[in-house]
Amino acid sequence: MSLLYEGKAKRVFNTEQEGVLRIEYKDEVTAGNGAKKDSMSGKGRLNNLITSKIFSILKQKGVESHFVEQISETEQLVRSVEIFPLEVVVRNVAAGSICKRLGFEKGHQFEQPLLELFYKKDELNDPLITDDHVALLNIATEEQLSTIKEQALNVNRVLSELMDDMNLILVDYKIEFGITEDGNILLADEISPDTCRIWDKETKENFDKDVYREDTGSLIDTYETFYKKLEEL
Ligand code: ADP
Ligand code: MG
Repeated sequence: MSLLYEGKAKRVFNTEQEGVLRIEYKDEVTAGNGAKKDSMSGKGRLNNLITSKIFSILKQKGVESHFVEQISETEQLVRSVEIFPLEVVVRNVAAGSICKRLGFEKGHQFEQPLLELFYKKDELNDPLITDDHVALLNIATEEQLSTIKEQALNVNRVLSELMDDMNLILVDYKIEFGITEDGNILLADEISPDTCRIWDKETKENFDKDVYREDTGSLIDTYETFYKKLEEL
């Protein structure tokens, strides 16, 4: 079936089923909006397995998403949505860009989850935006944005608890939302070590893409270890 869209990490295809898409996870890994780029055999498989597992667990815990089913090692079926051009970031602990931007020390624990919105536009390098920008750019209505924020914080509660059960800390993550044909707002895209920062509770060792960004270890070994922990749950 026809290729709808090819991004940095995935390819999206139409299927014969109305309203259902097939996502194929690629072996490509990028950082800094494509500034750093490599291909790693097995990366697509791991992210597909991890995302599928996380969306399944979220569903069991009452959090709906676009995920329908995993159909192969590297592919899954999802519900087709129109993606809001928003990267919704939730932070529990300071790391990455917020340290540079606001001077927080890496590891600083926030008193409450911090939600940030970034405009998903590669040409502009995904800038940080406010609610007023969301309205001005017609990205979402006030009501839609409030639903998105509510769902993003709900994901935080469930996902943080899940990581805690694995002796890990959910430091931060990026999620995307879309709207279905019938107007429902649905969690979409992926939840994987590409899109989360996950630290070991005791050692603060990374289980995420920072090992690639900072060249501190093997991405494949790191994701494999994380996947095993998820499987042991
Ligand atoms: P990007 O390089 O933009 O991050 P990815 O390779 O991560 O792209 O993913 C491919 C694209 O698929 C993204 O633009 C993402 O928003 C989109 N996408 C994810 N889930 C869905 C869905 N359920 N329906 C339509 N598009 C989706
Ligand atoms: Mg992406």
